[in-house]
Amino acid sequence: SSMSSITEVSLRSAPFDCFSSLIGSGGVREIAELAKRASGQLHGRTWWHINSTSRGGGVAEMLQSQLAYARGLGIHTRWLVLGGRADFFKITKRMHHAFHGALGDGSDLGEKERIIYEATLKENIPQLLVLIKPGDIVLLHDPQSAGLAPALVKHGATVLWRSHIGADVVNEHTDLAWDFVGPYLRHVFATVFSRKEYIPEFLKSQRSFVITPSIDAFSPKNQDMDEKTVKSILVHTGLIRGEATAEVLPHFTREDGTPALVTSKADIVREGAGPGWETPLIVQVSRWDPLKDPVGVIRGFVNLILRVVSVDAHLALVGPDVTSVADDPEGRAVLDSVIGAWKLLPSPIRQRIHLVSLPMEDREENAAIVNAIQRHAAIIVQKSLKEGFGLTVTEAMWKGRPVVASAVGGIQDQIVHGQHGLLLTDPHDELAFSEALEKLSHDQCLATQLGVQATERVRDLFLASYHLKQYARVLDAIDS
Ligand code: UDP
Repeated sequence: SSMSSITEVSLRSAPFDCFSSLIGSGGVREIAELAKRASGQLHGRTWWHINSTSRGGGVAEMLQSQLAYARGLGIHTRWLVLGGRADFFKITKRMHHAFHGALGDGSDLGEKERIIYEATLKENIPQLLVLIKPGDIVLLHDPQSAGLAPALVKHGATVLWRSHIGADVVNEHTDLAWDFVGPYLRHVFATVFSRKEYIPEFLKSQRSFVITPSIDAFSPKNQDMDEKTVKSILVHTGLIRGEATAEVLPHFTREDGTPALVTSKADIVREGAGPGWETPLIVQVSRWDPLKDPVGVIRGFVNLILRVVSVDAHLALVGPDVTSVADDPEGRAVLDSVIGAWKLLPSPIRQRIHLVSLPMEDREENAAIVNAIQRHAAIIVQKSLKEGFGLTVTEAMWKGRPVVASAVGGIQDQIVHGQHGLLLTDPHDELAFSEALEKLSHDQCLATQLGVQATERVRDLFLASYHLKQYARVLDAIDS
């Protein structure tokens, strides 16, 4: 097997001024000041980010846009992705589940696993030590990269570790995860978590920060899109039935500002034709991961249409092409189990459920398709069993969609029940889930109101601008 190696993701520099349309020129000035101070503190040192995938999932999504704005603000930042083989990612996915307080595949996280984990990271280290200079600042993201900390600290870098996941309550799984990762964090400068509830007891004596994840309002994923374009993209990709018209092409704007077309098709498991434009579509967008409970979403939807005959909605479960997400080896098996559950349904019900895998070759095109799907959705659901912080929830809220989501993890900070969406106290309660869908299907007023308030909530708390402000405070704490 080949050696694991580091790849650098090339980053643009994005102008931060455009945020004035969202947060006012005062808000932009304040952040520009903070960033200027932070870049002064850096004294020519580089601020590195290291994670384990450049696409698919929330972390890659955020790094892509935020680091571009950070550069636009004059902060010298670069992004590296570590390499690993299947055995490494099996272990890190197991860790991911454990940090969520979940069993995952139940495999051990013991000395045998530690040997594979450390051996993989060790293959990455020589390259890192060439790129990263003593004195540089390194932010390691998530458990995959945590084990790099000791070598980088020894090298003279200021190392921070950020966990994008966490559990509401500690249990034997989180203990296992922390036993594995804890030893690597002894000499880091600080840790960063998405909620204060995620900071484990043993780290409370060390410096830590809470930073709320955010979305980029100008990215292909969230940029404004008129209804005709939405329709054109959905028809082109095959998600909805309809005539492709020359009237409006399936277009979007790339991150560098250039116009582009959606040319790929989605890979859809379905029976019969797609839903029409007028058919209300209930949507969940997620990686194919058991913690997103795709089969539970199907069961809740089936419950809805069996109980409430007047509902004519369809359901779309939307995820990335399973071969594409480097650090998520479970995708194929989960999608197969979803297809298995779907096949067991009676045909009339099956015809109303669409299992959509989106092309991932072009990350920005993929994002534009997700954007169109989210804007078209009558209701967006996120029935996660665990969730560090659900970016898909924020994305839906920003688009003014009514959201039904589990009251787990960060989602509890994102939505106040009844104000910015509907929360499910028990994520396993499929009847309550279907009742929330019924309520929103019948009460257009409520659906609209929740959507409007959701957009405002995101403007206040969950945009990249606010995120950068919090990062600037972290950099500020590092001695010059
Ligand atoms: N996503 C995507 N394409 C897909 C499925 C998901 O771009 O086919 C994105 C989604 O829009 C969101 C991110 O992946 O930005 C998922 O982040 P989230 O925090 O919801 O969950 P995670 O995958 O990090 O557990």
